[in-house]
This record gives sequence, C-alpha cells and structure tokens, in this order.
Amino acid sequence: MSKKQELGITVKKDENISEWYTQVVKKADLADYAPVKGCMIIRPYGMKIWERIKKKFNQMIENEVDNAYFPLLIPESYLEKEKDIVEGFNPEVAWVENAGKDGKLEERLAIRPTSESIIAEYMSKNIRSYRDLPFRINQWANIMRWEATDTRPFLRTREFLWQEGHTAHENKQKADEEVLKRLDQYGQLYEDIMAIPVLKGRKPEHDKFPGAAMTTTVECLMPDGKSIQGGTSHNLGTNFANAFEIEYEDEYQEKHLCHTASWGISTRAIGALILAHGDDKGLVLPPNISPLEVIIVPIFVGKDDEKVEKFSEKVKEKLNGFRTEIDYDREKSPGFKFNHWELRGVPIRIEIGPNEVKKKKLTVVRRDNGEKKTVKLGKIEDNVEDILEDIQYSLYKKLEDYREEHTSKAESFEEILENIDKKKGYVKSFWCGREECEEMVKEEVHAEIVLVPLKRENLEGEKCAVCGQTAKEIAYFAKNY
Ligand SMILES: [Zn+2]
Repeated sequence: MSKKQELGITVKKDENISEWYTQVVKKADLADYAPVKGCMIIRPYGMKIWERIKKKFNQMIENEVDNAYFPLLIPESYLEKEKDIVEGFNPEVAWVENAGKDGKLEERLAIRPTSESIIAEYMSKNIRSYRDLPFRINQWANIMRWEATDTRPFLRTREFLWQEGHTAHENKQKADEEVLKRLDQYGQLYEDIMAIPVLKGRKPEHDKFPGAAMTTTVECLMPDGKSIQGGTSHNLGTNFANAFEIEYEDEYQEKHLCHTASWGISTRAIGALILAHGDDKGLVLPPNISPLEVIIVPIFVGKDDEKVEKFSEKVKEKLNGFRTEIDYDREKSPGFKFNHWELRGVPIRIEIGPNEVKKKKLTVVRRDNGEKKTVKLGKIEDNVEDILEDIQYSLYKKLEDYREEHTSKAESFEEILENIDKKKGYVKSFWCGREECEEMVKEEVHAEIVLVPLKRENLEGEKCAVCGQTAKEIAYFAKNY
C-alpha cells in the first residue's frame, strides 16, 4: 500500500462528490483504471460485492429461470434483423473485423452490446409449442458499449458486468406480468439487500430500450439529488419474435408469435451503493450486501498479545453465524487498522485489547454512525444481530426521508427549473408526452424525465406544465447519473 493511500479520503462528500467518489473507488480497493479508457479492473473487494449481488438475485429467480451462457461475439447479420436494435446500438457497438492469419473476416462480429438477437435465435430453435412457454433463460456476462461521454468506474463504463434475463410468453399480458415481476425483484434487491429505496416506473416512449414496446425502470435517488437508473425490465412485444420467427403452436395446432421480454441489472449497482451510503471516511455498506459483517481488530500492545489473539478467536467462534474476520496484522497500528476497515465500510468493528480480555467485555463500534458501546462476551451474539438489523434499517430510512424531502410538484416550466435547481431530487409535473417539452427542460437545467408512473392515471382537464397542451402523463424530472 502506498503512502498516499494510507491517508484516507481527503475531500468531503458534500463538497466534491465527484472527487470523493473517485477516491472511495480507489482507496476502498473496489476498482482500478485499465489501459483502455472506460474499462475497469474490478478488484477482489469490489468483486466480492458483485458476487453477493449475484448470489442474492440468483436466489430470487432460481425456481423459474435457468442460467446459461451465450457467445461474446454476435454476427452483424443477427443485429440487423431487428432494425431498432441496429439503430439504437450502432453508435455504441465495438466490432471485430480482423482475426487470425487470414486477416479480414467475411462478416463483421459485434462485441455484444446486449444479447436479444442471439438469444432470440436460440428461442426460435427451442420453442415449439405452448408447453415450452413461458421460456426463460438468464446469463451473467460482460457487455461492451462504446460510451463517448464521461466514463466513471461502475457508474458509466464501456465494459461492464450484468445479468440479462430473456423470456418468451404466449401473449402480451403474460409478458407484462413477467416484466413487472422482475422489476419487483430488482426493487427487492435494492431495498432489502442494498438498503436503497426505489421508485418503479416506465420510461417515456422516446426513451424506451431499442426494440421494446415498454421499458420499465427502478430509479434510486442519491444523496446529491441525482437519480440512478438501477435496473430495467422491457416488454419487447412481438418485435424480436417477428424478426427471428419465435413461434409456438397452441393446443389447436395454430401458430402464434411469442411476446418476449428482457431484464437486466449491472455493476452500476455498485456505483449506486457507493454514492448512496458512503461518508467522509469512505464506504458504508449495508450488512445484507457487505462481504464482511464484523471485523475483529485485536489491539496488540506487546504485552498479553497471545491472550488477546486467543480471546479474539473465541469471539469469532461465538459469531460464527455472521460473516466475521480477524485482522491479525501486528505491524500496523490499531488506528491504521480502524481507518482501513472504516474505509471499506464494514458495518461493525469489535476492538479487543488486554483490558477487554481482563474484563471479558468487548468494545463494539458501528460504522454508520460511529456509536461505541461495551458488550459482555456472553451477550455479543444478540448485540451484533440487533446492531446489524438497525444499521440496515437506518441506512434505508435515511435515504427514504431524503427522497421524501426532495420530491416536489411543479405547475409551470419556470417552477420545474427552479425546483430542480433549489429543491433538487424529483420534480413531478403534468406532461403532454412530447419529447420537445422534455428537451426544453434538459437544455436549461440538464434534467430529464427519469420515469412516468407504471399505471396511467386519469388526467382529464390537466395541462402540460411546459407547453400547456393536454397532459398525458405525470413526469418525474431529475438530474441523473
Ligand atoms: Zn408539453
């Protein structure tokens, strides 16, 4: 570890969140920059967090969805079969044109920007009858989208990891049910596991996923008033079924097109996690997602060190129901180790020195609010359980309160601009559904419509806050990542 890294975070989160974010990513050992701009090295600690996200989401879907793996390279002709995918993704696709001894390939190969096309082909081969439906498959994979704008580790990278679920159904209603079910699961993953409240909604028509009939999203409001798109779930209608001939025979041997859906969350979730809970000392992880729940730090003073180590091991044994480790390092000072684990966001630290051994009591410190208390050895298990639960809840509640305070209504164009600027967060207003009105807001304050409610409400008599025409939707304007 270099000297510079030992210093911890040197900027305050609410003074310069961008620099703060970069420092947390580097100093908490989450990720590092790669030789190619926009790519990242996910370091082991960052990967452990991703693997917990993976594990939790797999547990949610495993009864219904099988995992598989599809190739990284997709022939150009496949992408071209669905015209919206071509138009939507072409500017961001990286192509392989040369390979091996013979050089130029006969057909360009896309490095997958998403896998609808190659999986649609697979569906068309494997779906025959209504008995094959619903057809569901998921893959955990890497994706490449050549983003031109500012790249940031986890939040916006050219290569990222994600899961993409792809499903086929008998009709629109069943595809819609699937879309909303997966959206709910993303909500659960964010709220129950990552302690980040979400808003569920639809994307405006002009902002749908290429080739989708409906795109739904979970949006998370960050403590700087900007929204993050946490995951999306799309009803693809019969667009891909048409292009790739995904058909099934019903019980009367009549042929129909399937309705397909796709849904995904990516390593961007880690970016949300950092921004949502981190503080001036670094990362703060909710217990349910943290690779470690408890770190035991023995304090070696050169006297009774063996006793301190033995006692620490006894404590770890008592806590075998929790993800616990002991920091055995005898070279580093206790203060250094405290900072190290604070930077990494471990929810609970237990300090054990000669004094604790003598009194059979432990010093327990919460990462989220710094609260310290003394706990008898015999009561440590119950205490840890209660504290973890309380941390998980407090982190969620803090963000929920923040969102409540930062959701406002606006009745005119000026009011939208003013609220975005002064009140921050989400600004709700009636909207005619036309992109031009969103563009006007975007130009002035760089805020866009991050979602409209899932259910269309009756807006009879209401007018668009921007242009005054008949309102069709309630728009949630926000700045976003
Ligand atoms: Zn309008």
